[in-house]
Amino acid sequence: MQLLSQVQASLVSLAWDSVRLCAWLILLMVIFVPLEKFFALHTQKVFRKSFGADLLFYFVSSLLPKLILILPLTLIAKATHYFLPASFYESIASWPLLIRALAGLVVGEIGAYWGHRWSHENQFLWRFHSIHHDAEELDWLVHTRAHPVDMVFTRLCALVPMYLLGLAQPMADRVDLVPVLVTIAATMWGFFIHSNISWRLGWLEGLISSPAFHHWHHTNDGPEVVNKNYSTMLPWLDKCFGTYYLPQSWPGKYGINAPEPPVDSLGAITDSATPLA
Ligand SMILES: [Zn+2]
Ligand SMILES: [Zn+2]
Repeated sequence: MQLLSQVQASLVSLAWDSVRLCAWLILLMVIFVPLEKFFALHTQKVFRKSFGADLLFYFVSSLLPKLILILPLTLIAKATHYFLPASFYESIASWPLLIRALAGLVVGEIGAYWGHRWSHENQFLWRFHSIHHDAEELDWLVHTRAHPVDMVFTRLCALVPMYLLGLAQPMADRVDLVPVLVTIAATMWGFFIHSNISWRLGWLEGLISSPAFHHWHHTNDGPEVVNKNYSTMLPWLDKCFGTYYLPQSWPGKYGINAPEPPVDSLGAITDSATPLA
């Protein structure tokens, strides 16, 4: 009976998650479809090629990683609470929410930066991440075009350092707001930087990522300009780690048929049929 009620509760939760995703989808379309029409960077259709597949990715990539991550994140949370003293968590928890959220954003972004970079430099990870780079037309929905393994790996890279540094405290009595706020901010910004919007943000582009910054991440203009701009929100991280590239122009084309093979994270050129974008 207990198992049956657990299955029932999981199904109810899944149904509510699906309803919530439909509501978000409507909101995102209301925001981005008019913006992409009036400030279009490239002339392209709303229901472009692969729109249906990307819509499927939107639901799968939103629902599956959450289910898959429950177990590893619970284990990591229990392990860190076992090894680190309670006073450490209490002192971090006493910081104002804004400071904890900003610290969580920077720490999570550093983790996500390296997770993303490894997904380009490691042949095994690239197999999953290349699905995201397969898009030849960019718009807001391409943000969700990701294999669940890719989503889980990058999210783990972002969340684990936050857990280790006490910025995420899932074992606390109250709701743990910091990872929720950071994940929502990064997700919403992710839709914006993929969008087909021609806005440039001036000097702000060195501080926070823009569509141009991430469009250059998707470029297929040649080996000298690929593998740049890994950060989701903080381009200065790319400046720190030597991967920043943002001219005043926009990429000429997107996709992954550039003739460069992946470079393994240990530095060896790996032989692969899937070229690196
Ligand atoms: Zn990438
Ligand atoms: Zn992207």
